[in-house]
Amino acid sequence: MIIVLASGNPHKKEELSALFKGHSLLLPQDLGVTYHHEETGSSFYENALGKAWTLYEQLVQANRSNHLILADDSGLSIPALEGKPGVYSARFGEKELGRKPSYREQHQLLLEQMRTKTDRKAYFICCMVLMIHRNRWFMAQETLEGEIAFTPRGTGGFGYDPLLYLPSKGKTVAELTLEEKNEVSHRGLAARAIRTILEHHLEEYLHEST
Ligand code: IMP
Repeated sequence: MIIVLASGNPHKKEELSALFKGHSLLLPQDLGVTYHHEETGSSFYENALGKAWTLYEQLVQANRSNHLILADDSGLSIPALEGKPGVYSARFGEKELGRKPSYREQHQLLLEQMRTKTDRKAYFICCMVLMIHRNRWFMAQETLEGEIAFTPRGTGGFGYDPLLYLPSKGKTVAELTLEEKNEVSHRGLAARAIRTILEHHLEEYLHEST
């Protein structure tokens, strides 16, 4: 099944391609579609649905609306910082630096804000939408819980992975292999739920459209 990803993030594509093995995951640019979505939602749910709708309309314009759409809005939430950076995870630090910060700069800024905090609990959230039609879609939201490390560790993954320490593994997420991360991650759990819907609940649809 061809699934178009409402994202330009190659790291997400890599993780999701492994999670949707057997299906063909494409980025909008692979179909000659320029995808852009302004994230204005106050929840992961609103943003994920917004991304899917935007791409759906762009695929309609390009006569490609026969493809399924997968949208993922995700980020890091820290209770001791009132849920920050949350839906602003990608843009965290932009105000302070006056430009788009690197992941390393975001880590330093976050560690600075966590310096006096004793509660270091944090979690990644992923809200995932599988859209078949503008009025027909499925959604799954999952989390990966851990603690904010005192220094970034590891070189795998992306974003805040070097900062989220998993006590049960004795490692940060960036110290896991892609397979290990997908096994336990917010994105891995959400993708498995969506995959089950795709391959069981939508079986009839799949036969019709392949
Ligand atoms: P999005 O592309 O709008 O969903 O923004 C996601 C942002 O949240 C990314 O730029 C990362 O900073 C962060 N993020 C999302 N998922 C992950 C993950 O799996 N690991 C680390 N950081 C993540």
